[in-house]
Amino acid sequence: MTEITTPKVAAPEVVKDDSMLKQKDMMAGHYDRITSAHETGRKICSTFVPGNLNELIMCFDLVNNLPEINAIQAGLRKKSGAFVMEAEKLGHSEDVCTYVKSDIGMMAKGNIAPNGKPFPDPDVLLLSYSGCFTFMKWFELLREQYKCETIMLHTPYEGDGKITKNMREYMVKQLKEVVIPKLEQVSGVKFDIDRLREYMKRSADAEQDLVYVLQSAKHKPSPIDAYFGGIYYIGPIFGAFRGTQDAIDYYKMLRAEVDERIKSGRGPVTPDGDMGEEKYRLVTEGPPNYTSFRDFWKMFYEEGAVVVASSYTKVGGVYDFGFRHDAENPLESLADYCLGVYTNRNLPQRVEMLANYIEEYEADGLLINSIKSCNSFSAGQLLIMREVEKRTGKPGGFIESDLVDPRYFSPANIKNRLESYFQMIDQKRSGAKTAGVAA
Ligand code: SF4
Repeated sequence: MTEITTPKVAAPEVVKDDSMLKQKDMMAGHYDRITSAHETGRKICSTFVPGNLNELIMCFDLVNNLPEINAIQAGLRKKSGAFVMEAEKLGHSEDVCTYVKSDIGMMAKGNIAPNGKPFPDPDVLLLSYSGCFTFMKWFELLREQYKCETIMLHTPYEGDGKITKNMREYMVKQLKEVVIPKLEQVSGVKFDIDRLREYMKRSADAEQDLVYVLQSAKHKPSPIDAYFGGIYYIGPIFGAFRGTQDAIDYYKMLRAEVDERIKSGRGPVTPDGDMGEEKYRLVTEGPPNYTSFRDFWKMFYEEGAVVVASSYTKVGGVYDFGFRHDAENPLESLADYCLGVYTNRNLPQRVEMLANYIEEYEADGLLINSIKSCNSFSAGQLLIMREVEKRTGKPGGFIESDLVDPRYFSPANIKNRLESYFQMIDQKRSGAKTAGVAA
């Protein structure tokens, strides 16, 4: 009897721009630097994305390792589910942020980096606390595990929606009296403010191009997707590359690609190639889901929906209102940077920002992806939605998922809600047209 075999169909290739390939190389190089740090005589500083002090860390020849980025990598590689469950077995509650549980579970299962090599233990934990209380508890767990030097830079919350002179001075005092001396002690490298200035100049250069890229979404059609594509665009600046020549080169390359797209009237590049006709322009609030990232994105671009602005791309720094790292006032500027990140902004500031995005980017509405385990973003989101709807007259949509816990990504449910939301936008448009005719 002849055996019937099903021909193997190759998975479709994901379409990538040159900038994406460059970023992939940068990340691979970075993970190699981390995993080989102790052989090459480098020391490791673990720190978090919002309010990270990459320029300062580089002044001490330290290699920066970011636990949230490791959790995202685990999510994209579909490994985080097992890590999260491992952490729950160890007693971490279901409600705890799944970045934390992915990190704890990864440590329990051998602490293997995305390049397949073990992560060396960090030499110092640097917490530049910026608005999310979870960061503090997370570092307490890491301190228990690694028993290394821990530094905390306390960033006052922007409760009144502004940065005062006192807040800035309080931050600078901590930098001078605690953070810098401890980093000198751990690394054995003397602090050189001119070196810091040099890195900050480079940061500002890359930040300029990042803002250009994000604001290019004001074009119609938008040449970028500022949420799903935006995740790639913020990678170098929010991660370990701010202040490096690599980041400058990456953003120059990206800017040139975006200019090409604008010139030829093309929409964003998606994993399946150029997006088709732009039918809906959205502003999003909240992080994305990483365990089904491509499937999630597909639900948008298949419907012709493009995200033109998002709050998530501001979580590691808000640059579109003019802030740039300032080499003339390096410590004050580091303070302003930490104080201004999205997670450190109060609810009225977030409402203002999102409502303005809808106006400026001529969006059809605000879509919230509420993350089950992220209290920092989720608190007040329904209120934010209602307020933005009231101010802009544009409909809000609400979906729920999780960062890196695959148990909370329900594709049918999300697709259903998205379709209803797009219908709502259609109805609103036809209502507006009818009203126009009647008037
Ligand atoms: S901001 Fe959200 S995702 Fe980030 S650490 Fe805090 S709870 Fe977790």
